[in-house]
Amino acid sequence: MSEKVKVNVHRGTNTIGGCCTEITYKGTRIAIDLGSPLPGEDKKKLNVQGLTCGESKFDAVLCTHYHGDHIGEINRVNSDIPIYMSDFAKEVIKAYQDNKKTQYSEIDTANIRNLSAGRELKIGSFLIRPIRSDHSAAESFMFLIKADGFNILHTGDFRLHGKYRDELIEGLTNLGKIDLLITEGTTLFRKKNDEENYTEEKVEELIRGYIDENKYCFFILSSTNFDRFQGITKSIDSFRAKYRRIRRGKYYLVDDFQNKLLKVAEKYSPDRYSFKSHSKYGRNLNAGMEEKGFAMQLRTNNQEHEEIFKKYMTEYTDKTLLIYSMWSGYMERGKLKKITDFARERNRLRIVHSSGHVTIQDLEGFVKTINPKNVIVIHTESQEQLNVFENQIVVEDGVEVEF
Ligand SMILES: [Zn+2]
Repeated sequence: MSEKVKVNVHRGTNTIGGCCTEITYKGTRIAIDLGSPLPGEDKKKLNVQGLTCGESKFDAVLCTHYHGDHIGEINRVNSDIPIYMSDFAKEVIKAYQDNKKTQYSEIDTANIRNLSAGRELKIGSFLIRPIRSDHSAAESFMFLIKADGFNILHTGDFRLHGKYRDELIEGLTNLGKIDLLITEGTTLFRKKNDEENYTEEKVEELIRGYIDENKYCFFILSSTNFDRFQGITKSIDSFRAKYRRIRRGKYYLVDDFQNKLLKVAEKYSPDRYSFKSHSKYGRNLNAGMEEKGFAMQLRTNNQEHEEIFKKYMTEYTDKTLLIYSMWSGYMERGKLKKITDFARERNRLRIVHSSGHVTIQDLEGFVKTINPKNVIVIHTESQEQLNVFENQIVVEDGVEVEF
């Protein structure tokens, strides 16, 4: 039996989406994430012998977080291999399935076991510690993976410009020596707009200003970006507190599905999320909305939402704003383009976003702090650009590296 640690990045050395990393030691074999490719990437499903086909050779699949580019293909894992993720991630999947939303529809949640931050898990020859991270998906994990004296830190997706950077950095102290850092490198190549380099706090500050100054605000954002929903909640609360004496506060409106997701966040991450201020949109609120003003989540595939949006954009142009709070690439086509263009033509579009991914500058500092013996960059279109590190190993999809 080999005593060496082996790492095989099956996918993710030259694409952002679809990542899957295998780590093997003394006969124990684990995979971290098994995602779907992103739009525009090669759609081919990933086949790994012993994981998705053939006799099972893997002992576990560990999921860093619930984004599709990390778990989108876990439904293809052989049914006798356990899959681990946070309860939060599992409940997000179930909420999508209950509401017949297509994403995650084929995942069998009965086969999912729990991972909790700080609770070490022994899987064969590995001791694994999930570390609570900071990303645009809630309750994301980094993994400290110990193989006897060899320590690996797998970052998953993370950032150091979010609200929980201090907590993350604290969770990374006293890790001991790190022999191998496997880090995400999303931003190494992808062109970023300046807006997307805002901190989460800056985004919140801008949103607060927009809500204060514009009676009718529509929001387009990811349903599972709970930090952003928390920011809107705080902005609404501060508006209501400020104007309590002169007029009644405005509405904060979401749809039924979003309401359920917010409840998941409150239940599974109560120290980070509390959404008390919102209501579910219903037609009975139309008159009150017009009178008091509102911040409303705009579900772009909802015909009724679109009609309300166009009515306000047309009849109350100067008092209405569309706040677009996702990666700007998504609005380059389809319905999102149509809707954002409608606001843009009237100069009523504001783009305010903070990326879920670590900036190049922060990543450089992060690697210096962790001070690993070796670095592998995944979840990236370009490993080469990280060559500022002398100790980086450039790897290829499906090629095993021994340590
Ligand atoms: Zn992610």
